[in-house]
Amino acid sequence: MQDLNHDLVVIGGGIIGVTCAWQLTQAGYKVLLLEKDEVGQGASFGNAGHIATEQVLPLASPAVLKQLPRMLLDPLGPLRLDWRYLPRIAPWLLKLVANMRPQAQRNSSAGLRLLNEASLPAWQQLLQQAGLSRLLKEDGSLLVCESESAFAELQRHSQVLGELGVSSDPWSAQTLHRQVNGLAPAVSGGLFFPATGHVTDPYQLVAQLFAQAQAAGMERQQAEVYGGRCQDNGIELNTSKGKLFAKRVLVAAGAWSAPLVRELAGIKIPMDTERGYHLMLPAEPARLPMAVSSLERKFIMTPMTGGLRLAGTVEFAGLHKAPDYRRAEGLVRHADALFERQLDTQSATPWMGCRPSLPDSLPVIDRVGPQGRLLLALGHHHLGLTQAAVTAQLILSLLSGKPSGLDIAPFRLARFGQLPPTHTFNNSVCLPGSEG
Ligand SMILES: Cc1cc2nc3c(=O)[nH]c(=O)nc-3n(C[C@H](O)[C@H](O)[C@H](O)COP(=O)(O)OP(=O)(O)OC[C@H]3O[C@@H](n4cnc5c(N)ncnc54)[C@H](O)[C@@H]3O)c2cc1C
Repeated sequence: MQDLNHDLVVIGGGIIGVTCAWQLTQAGYKVLLLEKDEVGQGASFGNAGHIATEQVLPLASPAVLKQLPRMLLDPLGPLRLDWRYLPRIAPWLLKLVANMRPQAQRNSSAGLRLLNEASLPAWQQLLQQAGLSRLLKEDGSLLVCESESAFAELQRHSQVLGELGVSSDPWSAQTLHRQVNGLAPAVSGGLFFPATGHVTDPYQLVAQLFAQAQAAGMERQQAEVYGGRCQDNGIELNTSKGKLFAKRVLVAAGAWSAPLVRELAGIKIPMDTERGYHLMLPAEPARLPMAVSSLERKFIMTPMTGGLRLAGTVEFAGLHKAPDYRRAEGLVRHADALFERQLDTQSATPWMGCRPSLPDSLPVIDRVGPQGRLLLALGHHHLGLTQAAVTAQLILSLLSGKPSGLDIAPFRLARFGQLPPTHTFNNSVCLPGSEG
């Protein structure tokens, strides 16, 4: 067994694992990153690039439940369930429904608000330090609608968000068409979110941070971790390259994290995947000045260096089923309805990725296991890009014991049930000197 002298082994080379690895390497930790495939090719490759700080309401809500039957009957609609997958995902769906209770909704909103409020400043700071600020456009984002009743809904939404501390400006049709050229006359109102932005190339963001971390001393091995065992003196990892013995491990393996945590610590996390799709239109890089999403059509269009990215949809079909690219291609029909002039779809490419989702719409950011040797940064569902930099700050704080200023209580693993006594690590307040 290879005995590693690294301070930390990170499992997973997506935006979460790489941003944490970058942050820790900068802070002087000796990090080894294990990735089973190429770095940055999971969910982090093809997301919509939206720094979605305004999304502070949990996925599960009674309003969504009401729309469910209509959505499920449309095979190319925003939500799809593979009925053969229903027995597998049923317990997760029941937990999702349980999270629609008012108190659960309030808890999720408070947690989302806490993280999202700190997300943009965390990215600004990190990107400035990395010399990569050019990848972030802080130009706000827009949610549009196509009817008077939907505009009234947007105004109510604006009020609810305002009560949660999220600012938004309702835009009449006149303001909207003055600010954004080329939208169809049917687009009759919108909600502008000033404190948001977008990343112009989500893959480049991962790749650049990865390259910088490597240049600063981080090591990388292409290896799949199958499981292992937490012990008092370290963590044994079984990998495709043999056995490794690590001082500490960070699980940041996206939608594949739950079986790993179960193997390593015997703890069951209620994670499933919401598969999402994008269609990249390379001939349309300049169609929009900012990210624009549609209330009724439930998808987003983000201007990127490589073209206009149409993204969205939720598909419950597990990790292994082949992608159904009709779901990506179907996004053009929706996008065309929002523009005066048809989109140029020449050389368009479809993509599918697996969001790592927990039923309360909050990630797990925690430090558990004997001596706090197992760190967790997983389950960022629709908001992994948004929350990656603040997650990295919290992981650094958990490891170093230096207070981050944010309370991690809402993101702790224990919310899903009691941890074994050996796994409880007193880290919720990140006390100085808690480094194990
Ligand atoms: C269509 C779509 C649009 C989205 N839009 C947005 C958006 O606009 N804004 C936003 O904030 N978020 C968005 N998201 C969500 C965001 O992309 C995810 O939350 C985020 O990418 C998750 O990052 P991750 O690092 O946890 O997972 P991933 O990027 O999936 O990375 C996990 C990595 O771990 C590796 N791995 C897994 N198991 C093992 C193992 N056993 N051993 C070694 N390596 C392993 C995988 O190969 C993978 O590279 C979107 C997602 C989708 C699908």
